[in-house]
Amino acid sequence: MIIAIDGHSSCGKSSFAKRIADELDILYIDSGAMYRAATLYCFENDIIHAAKLNVDVLIQSLDKIQIEFRKIECSTKPQVFLNGKNVEDKIRSIQLSSMVSEVSVVAELRKRMVDIQRSFGKNQSVVMEGRDIGSVVFPDADIKIFLTASPEVRAKRRFDELTAKGEKVSLEEIMKNLTHRDKIDQSRETSPLIQSEDAILLDNSFMTPDEQMVWFRNLIKT
Ligand code: C5P
Repeated sequence: MIIAIDGHSSCGKSSFAKRIADELDILYIDSGAMYRAATLYCFENDIIHAAKLNVDVLIQSLDKIQIEFRKIECSTKPQVFLNGKNVEDKIRSIQLSSMVSEVSVVAELRKRMVDIQRSFGKNQSVVMEGRDIGSVVFPDADIKIFLTASPEVRAKRRFDELTAKGEKVSLEEIMKNLTHRDKIDQSRETSPLIQSEDAILLDNSFMTPDEQMVWFRNLIKT
C-alpha cells in the first residue's frame, strides 16, 4: 500500500504520516528531509553563499550528494543521512529553511530525489509525505491526502517546535518563511505543489492529532 501525503509547509504532515506508519506498521519517509539534507550540503560547501544558490555548481556536485535513510536504535523515525552522517539535527533551522525551496526548484536534483523515493515503494508499503508525492512520485498511490491548515496555525506550530528546541526565532520570521516557501513550492516549473484531482483535502487547523487519526481510520474503512 502506498499512502501519499502532500500539503503546505508546517501543517503537520510529518507527525500525521509518522502516526499512520506506526499504526499500520509500514515505512515512513519524510521526503522534505532529503531536500533539506541537499540544502545542508550546499551550505557546507559554499554552494549557497550570502543567501544565493549557485545552481550550476549544485548540478555539477550532484554525484557527491549521497542521501539515504537509516534506522537508529533510539528513534522509530528513519533518520536522514548525508554522505554517511546523520543530519536530522541540522536540517530544520530557520536559516536552512530559508533556502530549501530555492534548492528544491532544481529539476536535476528533483529527478534524483524522485528516483530514490520511488525505490522505497518498490517492494513494501510506505507512507511518504512531501509536496509532489501524489502528483509525481506515486501518481498511482492507493490513498492521497492533501493536508493544509491556516497560515497562522501553521506558523504557531512551527514556532512552538523551534523554540522548544532552543532556537531564537520570532513568529513573524516563521510566518515570512512559510509564505515564502509555499509561494516557491506552488509556482515552480518542475513538480509544483498542487492538490491532485484524486487527493482528499484535509484542513487540520482545528483538529488534534487524535482527531486526525480518527478521520484517517474512517477514510481507510470506506
Ligand atoms: O516538508 P518540509 O517542509 O520539511 O520540506 C522542506 C522543503 O522541501 C519544502 O518547502 C519544499 O521546498 C521541498 N520539498 C519538495 N518536494 C517534496 C518535499 C519537500 O520540493 N516532496
